[in-house]
Amino acid sequence: MISVFGSANMDLVAYASRAPRRGETVTGRMFRTVPGGKGANQAIAAARAGAEVAFLGAVGDDGFATELRETLAVAGVNVERLRRVPGPSGIAHIVVDDEGGNSIVVVPGANGAVTGPGKEDEAVIAASRALLLQLELPMPAVVAAARAARDAGVPAILTPAPSRPLPAELLDAVALIVPNEHEAADLTGASSPDAALDALLDRVPEAVITLGAEGALYGSRSGDRLRVPAVRVKAVDTTAAGDTFAGALAVARVEGRPMAEALRFASAAAALSVQREGASTSMPSRADIEAAFA
Ligand code: ADP
Repeated sequence: MISVFGSANMDLVAYASRAPRRGETVTGRMFRTVPGGKGANQAIAAARAGAEVAFLGAVGDDGFATELRETLAVAGVNVERLRRVPGPSGIAHIVVDDEGGNSIVVVPGANGAVTGPGKEDEAVIAASRALLLQLELPMPAVVAAARAARDAGVPAILTPAPSRPLPAELLDAVALIVPNEHEAADLTGASSPDAALDALLDRVPEAVITLGAEGALYGSRSGDRLRVPAVRVKAVDTTAAGDTFAGALAVARVEGRPMAEALRFASAAAALSVQREGASTSMPSRADIEAAFA
């Protein structure tokens, strides 16, 4: 089992020729609500990639809460430990313009009310083969979850997004960090992925830097280095490519696959996801990944 301690958001996406300026109203051409949040995305990616997954997090007491819970459950994620707290669920309010650019306001809502894994969540983490973490919950909560994993001997896999400074106590408890190129640069100040990888390995035993269409770069403190090319595909929507990659990578690792193979499995899953619109709706099934991977 893989546990995911993280965020669930409803993405409210309006498509318009351009984002409004202050005081202005523009008429859009389309609107969609899309279940998301990095935690929920990774949970769905891992479940669809073939693992048993437990989601630890919170939604509010609004209609979005029902839809978020339902989306996770339909993907096969165990939502027994998804708490319902008073107030709104987390949302991301997104305007996508005609050039594909976007402006986003995230309101954490229920995610912001998560103070840490409770006792029962800690028991779920301890019974897991891996814990997936991101940075859309309050930092003290993320640190507490990472520590619960370390204390139980469970590897914590951290996607350090959205980018922000990481306390040493978090990095000390993480087994594998999976930033994209920008997050890696923000974290280390390094100007190349190779230099960023070296700097990350000073702080964490293993690191994967994802490089979009350029693939991914892996290193371990014991001196391993691997470079995996991305699968060449026509990208339609790269939203949540990184979350799909992280979820699938965790699945392959808990299945005991060697890192080189796990990276190829994750790349195959992420390449499938960029060929489809949306986030949670774009994550490939185990069968799709196996077919692309073979
Ligand atoms: P994020 O979504 O976090 O910004 P990346 O853009 O680095 O992360 O993408 C994560 C992974 O998704 C990459 O390592 C790669 O395997 C895959 N990927 C991303 N963009 C493409 C693409 N255009 N074609 C094929 N694979 C892609």
